[in-house]
Formats: sequence, C-alpha cells, structure tokens
Amino acid sequence: MKAVARRQLPLRPAGPDTAAALLDWYDRERRDLPWRGKRGKRVDPYRVWLSEIMLQQTTVKAVIPFYERFLQRWPTVDALAAADTEDVLSAWAGLGYYSRARNLHKCAKAVVSEHGGQFPRTEEGLGALPGIGPYTAAAVAAIAFGIPATPVDGNIERVVSRLFAFKQPLPGAKRELKRLAASLTPQRRAGDFAQAMMDLGATVCTPKRPSCLMCPLQQDFCRTGFPASMDARPGSVLTYCLITRLCRYHVIL
Ligand code: SF4
Repeated sequence: MKAVARRQLPLRPAGPDTAAALLDWYDRERRDLPWRGKRGKRVDPYRVWLSEIMLQQTTVKAVIPFYERFLQRWPTVDALAAADTEDVLSAWAGLGYYSRARNLHKCAKAVVSEHGGQFPRTEEGLGALPGIGPYTAAAVAAIAFGIPATPVDGNIERVVSRLFAFKQPLPGAKRELKRLAASLTPQRRAGDFAQAMMDLGATVCTPKRPSCLMCPLQQDFCRTGFPASMDARPGSVLTYCLITRLCRYHVIL
C-alpha cells in the first residue's frame, strides 16, 4: 500500500433519485406474492384490497392460503358481496380479528350497492368505505390505480426514520414521517414504489438486524446505516468502512 487518501462522497438528496434506486432494486428483488401483478401490469383492485385487509396484523405467510381460498370461492367483489356473512366469517376463521371479516363483507356490499361494483379510484373515496383506513386507502390507490399515494405503516415509518436519521420519538413524529415518505413517492410507478418500500421494510431494513450492505439506499441516500447488521471482524478497516457511514470515504491505493 503506497499511500492512502480519502475523499468523502456526499449523500444525495432524498427524492426522485431515491425512488429510482429503490425501483431498480424492486425490479430485481421483489417478492413474488400471489396478489401482485406481472411487471408493468395493473392489478385488479379487488385483489389488492382483499390482500391488504388480510395483511393487517397478520404475516404474509399466514395470509397466502387464506387469500387463495377466498379468491377461489369469491373471485369478484360481486361474488363476495352476495355471500352469506356466516360463510365469510367461517372462511376467515384462523386469521383472527373477526371485525376485519365483517367489515370486509360490508365493504364488498357497499362497493356493489353504492359504486356499481367498481372500487372508487381516489384515496378519499376508498377511505370512506367500511374497514378501509388511511394506510389501506393509500395502498389500494397506489397499487391498483397508480395514484401517487403513500401508504405508511410501522415498517415504512421505520425505513423512513432511518433513511432521514429522524430522531423525534413516535407517535408525535408520525405526521412528519408521513410527509417525508410522501416526499419520496414518484408520480410514475407509485404502486411499485409502495410495494418496494414494503419489501425493503420486510426483508432488508428489518427491525433488529437491518441488512444495510444489501440495501439499495445505503450507499447514496441513507443517513443511518447500521454497523450492527454486519458480520464485521473487529479491527478490519475494510469491513469497518463497508459497514459504517465511513464507507463514504474512498481508499485510494
Ligand atoms: S442502509 Fe440500513 S438502515 Fe438505511 S434504509 Fe438501508 S437497511 Fe435501513
């Protein structure tokens, strides 16, 4: 090693480039889930809504068999609206939180009776339906209709707070985290962006051991980075540089 010089690379401002980096990663790494459409294709709002309601307070793994059974039995919102409530509740058994199943059925009926079987195409319209809160309204608006809405749940709050090194404690910070998340949402591919944030929170920027080295935002955008997520050998300069914000220095040999 002849000489060592270091230069700091500034973080790039969060915004369209952040979204572009995340979408590139999503195109390569996205989870293959039964309610997701093929790349570039819009998904039936009924499927998006059904999956989002089922996923509240429940894991993806637990939801998949229920989702597939529901879809097989009631393939459209009209079919679900026409079902007997007791049949819906019995098909839901095992997913917990039965109020969700009751609201699911009420919502299907409202879509059919008040909207001609079509889900409203706005966040506000979706949010006015039974059982649809702000997160689900934003998720359905973005994923099913491509509206630049920003669903923010606990996972996305965690990603955003790390990305911006946001220190204010919850719950007071919720409004600001929502604003920061919205500032990243692109006008195009808003649904993919929402799902990319969901995937990042579920698979990379996890609560206890985020895999920062695997993260598409670590190098240029994240103001946190977590050394604890790496299997670092103590004393290794290279490892240290890779796992901390000091990785923003280049070592020139
Ligand atoms: S670099 Fe680490 S902390 Fe930052 S967003 Fe990615 S996984 Fe999360």
